[in-house]
Amino acid sequence: MKHNLVIAFCITAAALSFVIFGETDYLWFVLGGIALLFISVVAYGSSQIQANYFVKSINKGRVKAIALTFDDGPDPESTPRILETLRENNVKATFFVIGRKAVEYPDLLRQIVEEGHTIANHSYSHHYLIGLFSSKKLRSDIQRCNEAIRDITGQVPVFFRPPFGVTNPRYAGVLKDLKMESIGWSLRSMDTRAKNKYQLIQKIISKLKPRDIVLLHDHLPLTADTLPDIIGHCREMGIKIEPLPRLIGKEPYETN
Ligand SMILES: [Zn+2]
Repeated sequence: MKHNLVIAFCITAAALSFVIFGETDYLWFVLGGIALLFISVVAYGSSQIQANYFVKSINKGRVKAIALTFDDGPDPESTPRILETLRENNVKATFFVIGRKAVEYPDLLRQIVEEGHTIANHSYSHHYLIGLFSSKKLRSDIQRCNEAIRDITGQVPVFFRPPFGVTNPRYAGVLKDLKMESIGWSLRSMDTRAKNKYQLIQKIISKLKPRDIVLLHDHLPLTADTLPDIIGHCREMGIKIEPLPRLIGKEPYETN
């Protein structure tokens, strides 16, 4: 884990500071600098999933195509519209569902699977303080989502995406225990912040490249509105859209 290297580096730097600056007025200034550096690196590492700082995530594809991934559903309004667009265009996507919403809308979950898409785990609660959960609480939250998905679809997902893309050492331990893969993204569409369709499509078009894992949200009407244009653009540019398991070469469900 990169975090252990950073800790080792900071401890060594602090020890050296005592040796070099121990007798001078600079000591506390240098130690303060090391502490600030440590805090900055940890803050960056926990908030940037691509940094693979606490958890090694898959953030890019292996083959020359892209995959569409949708977080935070299922949603009774937008998910069916997204499924319709995907069906019309014969595109398969991956849905990182929130467990409590899956329980609320089991028919949508079944529809997602029946139409050939992949279901993945995005935690049960998606609690805004999930980053502060103890290992035990985090594990039971992630497991509860797996159980909800299993009860509805008969399959136990292997792919997990941390809510808000925030990771910490507890995620690393829990995911290893549960034998789950952390899946990040390489292109964040920012559909949660886009004000209109034009802004969203521009954001995606300007950055899209082969091997991208694209992060979208299926609870947003704007994303449902824009999806036909996103797929249309890929078609025009000759960019293939593959299911995530094929893009990254991993099995999406537990096999017995
Ligand atoms: Zn989310």
